[in-house]
Amino acid sequence: MDLGISGRTAIVCAASRGLGRGCAEALADAGVNLVINARSSDVLEETAEEIRSSYGVEVTTVVGDITAEADRARVIEAAPDADILVTNAGGPPPGLWSDWGRDDFIRALDSNMLTPIALMQALLPGMCERGWGRVVNITSQSVKSPIPALGLSNSARAGLTGFVGGTSRQVASKGVVINNLLPGIHATDRANALDGNAAKSEGLSVEQVRARRAGSIPVGRYGTAKEFGATCAFLCSIHAGYMIGQNILLDGGTFNATL
Ligand code: NAP
Repeated sequence: MDLGISGRTAIVCAASRGLGRGCAEALADAGVNLVINARSSDVLEETAEEIRSSYGVEVTTVVGDITAEADRARVIEAAPDADILVTNAGGPPPGLWSDWGRDDFIRALDSNMLTPIALMQALLPGMCERGWGRVVNITSQSVKSPIPALGLSNSARAGLTGFVGGTSRQVASKGVVINNLLPGIHATDRANALDGNAAKSEGLSVEQVRARRAGSIPVGRYGTAKEFGATCAFLCSIHAGYMIGQNILLDGGTFNATL
């Protein structure tokens, strides 16, 4: 399928590895020029070079913490007229509901709610003026089905989901489409780290932990960044113009509901 976005420009945040990289690659495959961001320069530059040589698109790198205002401003400055925005950042740490104080909540809100909102506030006016734009926010399955140990993430991502629900409908008539993509378990460095931690604390091998988690997913395996990226690229395509403010779950069937 021709996604109809060749020659457009996308900002993809937190994109040197994992799901962000999957989205960047799928957009590059559709002919989209990229601004990609991450905190570690070496991995980011390596990823950029691999994408350039595989897909022949322009890739600009901006090293920095997307949750920090000054770094975020440099990311926006690299493509102030971006047609496509994919928001992403690391998730907050796990814990118990009684562990967290105000500062922990402010950090989580900054990372997983206020940062994507600030990025949208910076780029939506131009998209509306030009009459075309696409935004995909990478959130989590925890928006639909809370993960008890991830209370900070559950809270912050719920706030972002509420903002998108209203804002997506306010900009829809301008040709701007905003949706959220909700990953279930995907085979990324983050999933590997979580498996490693669980293996250590339970005295199991990483393979045993992984097999148990995969067994809890109806598909019987983890998702891939490539599958995730392909869905993201579709949401950024010309074909997604009638999908407004949706929360698309990619979890291999884990969330058990008729609707
Ligand atoms: P990952 O494999 O650890 O990759 C994270 C990427 O984001 C890296 O490129 C990292 O590079 C970059 N990054 C992290 N924090 C950043 C920041 N503050 N500023 C700029 N770049 C940053 O993680 P992932 O699995 O792709 O997860 C992406 C998001 O999806 C997270 O919010 C995660 O909580 C959520 N999620 C993932 C899963 C899953 O199973 N994978 C499931 C549900 C939700 P640097 O470290 O160099 O900055």
